[in-house]
Amino acid sequence: SVVANKGLLNKPGDNNCFLNSAIQVLWHLDVFRKNFRQLNGHSCMGASCIFCALKDIFQQFQYSKDEALPPTLLRSALAETFQQQSRFQLGLMDDAAECFSILIYKCHFFIVITDLTYAPLPHCIPHQKFGLSLVEQCVCQCGATSEPLTFIEMVHYVSASALREEDVAMRIRYGTSDQKFGRVVRVASSWGDMRSCPSDCGAQIEMRKVLMNCPDVVSIGIVWDSAEPQVKDIISLVHALGTTLKLTDVSSISYLVVKS
Ligand SMILES: [Zn+2]
Ligand SMILES: [Zn+2]
Ligand SMILES: [Zn+2]
Repeated sequence: SVVANKGLLNKPGDNNCFLNSAIQVLWHLDVFRKNFRQLNGHSCMGASCIFCALKDIFQQFQYSKDEALPPTLLRSALAETFQQQSRFQLGLMDDAAECFSILIYKCHFFIVITDLTYAPLPHCIPHQKFGLSLVEQCVCQCGATSEPLTFIEMVHYVSASALREEDVAMRIRYGTSDQKFGRVVRVASSWGDMRSCPSDCGAQIEMRKVLMNCPDVVSIGIVWDSAEPQVKDIISLVHALGTTLKLTDVSSISYLVVKS
C-alpha cells in the first residue's frame, strides 16, 4: 500500500540513528503498521510509555505536514524506561537491532497485561506477526536424540562474519549464492553451536532447529564481532544479503532489514 514516507530528525549530538532506523522498519512493515493502528487497550506507563510514544510517532507519520519528524517522545520514553540499565540514554548512541527487538517486546508487554511472560496470546500483534516458533533438538548418527526444546524468537541473530564466510563458501560451491540466502543464514546461525551427543557416544553434533510456523515477518539481526568493522567487510556483508528468503531453506532463521 502507499504509505507516507517521512524522515526522522537526528540533530548533531542527538544520536537518534539507532532509534530512527528501528522506527522506520516498523512503520514500513504493512502488517505491523496496520495492526498496531487498531490497538488501543494497553497498560499505560504515562510519561515513559513506549506504547503511547510509538502511537504518537505513527500518527505524525500519517498526519504531519512536515517532511522530517522529531522522535523525541519515544526517545525520552526509552531513556526513562531503561535508566537503571543505562541503556538508550539521551544523546548516547545505541544498538539499532536491539532497539527494534525491544520495541516489539515492549508492545507485547503493554498488550498482554494479564500475563507477564513471553507467552504468545492470540491478540498479541508482535507475537502474531514476528514470532518464530522453533523446536531445537540434537539428533546424533548413533540414534540418540535430546529432549526437543520449543521456544519463540522475535529476532534471529546471526554473526556478520559467519554470514560473510558462508556466502563465500556458497559462491565457491555453486558459482552463485542467488536464491540461497536462506541456506546461508541457516548454516551461519548454527556456527560453533556444537553439542556433545545426548548418550555420550563421543560425537559432536550440530543443534537442529525446525521452524514450526510461517510468520509474516522474519527479522534477522546481524551481530558484528567488531565495533569498527572494515569497509571491505561491510561491502561483502551487503553482497551476502539476499533479497529472497525461502523459509524451507532457513528452518532456523532471522537483519534489521525486515522482509514481509
Ligand atoms: Zn501508554
Ligand atoms: Zn506477545
Ligand atoms: Zn551419539
